[in-house]
Amino acid sequence: MPHDSAGFRRAAEEAAAWIEAYLRDPGRYRIYPDTRPGDLIDRLPAEGPLEGEALEKIFADFEADVLPAVTHWNHPRFFNYFACTGSVPGVISEMLSAALNTNGLNWVASPAVAELEQVALGWLRQWMGLSGDYFGQIFDTASTSTLHAVMAAREWVDPDARLNGVSKPMTVYCSDQAHSSVDKAVVAAGLGLRHLRRIESDAAFRMRPEALREAMERDAAEGRTPCCVVATVGTTSTTAVDPLDEITATAGRFGAWVHIDAAYAGAAALLPEYAWAFAGQERAHSFVVNPHKWLFTPIDCSAFYTRHPEVLRRAFTITPEYLRTTGDPREVNLMDYGVALGRRFRGLKLWYVLRYFGLLRFQELLRSHIAMAREFASLVEADPRFELAAPVPFSTVCFRLHHEAQTRALVAAVNAAGRNFISQTVLKGRYAARVAIGNLATESGDVRALWRDIQAAVK
Ligand code: PLP
Repeated sequence: MPHDSAGFRRAAEEAAAWIEAYLRDPGRYRIYPDTRPGDLIDRLPAEGPLEGEALEKIFADFEADVLPAVTHWNHPRFFNYFACTGSVPGVISEMLSAALNTNGLNWVASPAVAELEQVALGWLRQWMGLSGDYFGQIFDTASTSTLHAVMAAREWVDPDARLNGVSKPMTVYCSDQAHSSVDKAVVAAGLGLRHLRRIESDAAFRMRPEALREAMERDAAEGRTPCCVVATVGTTSTTAVDPLDEITATAGRFGAWVHIDAAYAGAAALLPEYAWAFAGQERAHSFVVNPHKWLFTPIDCSAFYTRHPEVLRRAFTITPEYLRTTGDPREVNLMDYGVALGRRFRGLKLWYVLRYFGLLRFQELLRSHIAMAREFASLVEADPRFELAAPVPFSTVCFRLHHEAQTRALVAAVNAAGRNFISQTVLKGRYAARVAIGNLATESGDVRALWRDIQAAVK
């Protein structure tokens, strides 16, 4: 028998008990490990075992060696980056997916992978108010989703690029606040970073549409082809919202593809009161939201939607004989719409998570995070030693003390204590502390405790 059933049951029960205790109280760990680069590597054997080892022993070493080097993203006082929380349906579905280990490279290889992904993405699309002509697929990360958007844009403006490679300059536009994944996409698509235009943002960190128009006009007049505009809803530093209506209108004049990067804030599209942030999306060509950020789905799960799947297909389809399928028109073969062939059963976890929470619970959680951010922002505003460094449209707050050195020292002191984990950024040349709320376990008491720790750390 290839599997040891009794051993599996024992180890699974032990792991399940550990996971239950962990998810019940992730706050009992130090958020940020007290470890130095190389510590874990030095602690573990330099060579793998000759003979297989018992699951119990491996688990014991996980607890003793690996766990102390883990940063606890599930911790209720994790306010760094954008949150990414483990959840019960996420854990169960990842376990089932690992057990099935089914590889959905095309429909025949695993119909459930192809079709469940479509079902879950369809539900999410409807909840976000995206129109029915958006076709979805799940990638690992928003960086990969945005790469596919830029590849589709390349195909859109130059259908010969697939055969010939890039033979004429094509330009890509995003704001000076856009995520670095846009730069990487431009590099990977072979367009050249010299053809990426980072458009100036306004005082509220939103792309300035008139600056976009001028840049596109200049490129077109000088013989370059405006290819793609990446608009962000919820920028990484301040969660600013680029003006989609004006951006899509300008891009439309030049025939450029518009991709919306809503990796974090796309979740807020589940809230009707945020319709303003997405107005204009109906004229975009593609859209990315990461359920692994603010929708409590285990990493990795990035939902990529496009209203022009045929363009992606044109860019990527290559079908050798061994990958031929039934040819039925209802068959979805996701290998045709991107770089990867093998496909994890990511649709299973999204389906599990969407069903477990349901729209109403998601709305309740998102609204509670937004309310906590507003409360935190008002605490900042009420203390004359501090100022807000940016508007707070969602659940992320940037703030500073009056002197940069003090703000730097504050972030360092708060993180060094190990009870909270916050981040920093630079906004128009000025350093700011940043607190992003979005963790399933976070309650308003955690945010107030953070504020007390911040006040205590101010020198
Ligand atoms: N886009 C935005 C706006 C982000 O904030 C981030 C990461 O935080 C990304 C893209 C990249 O996300 P990923 O890590 O899924 O590639």
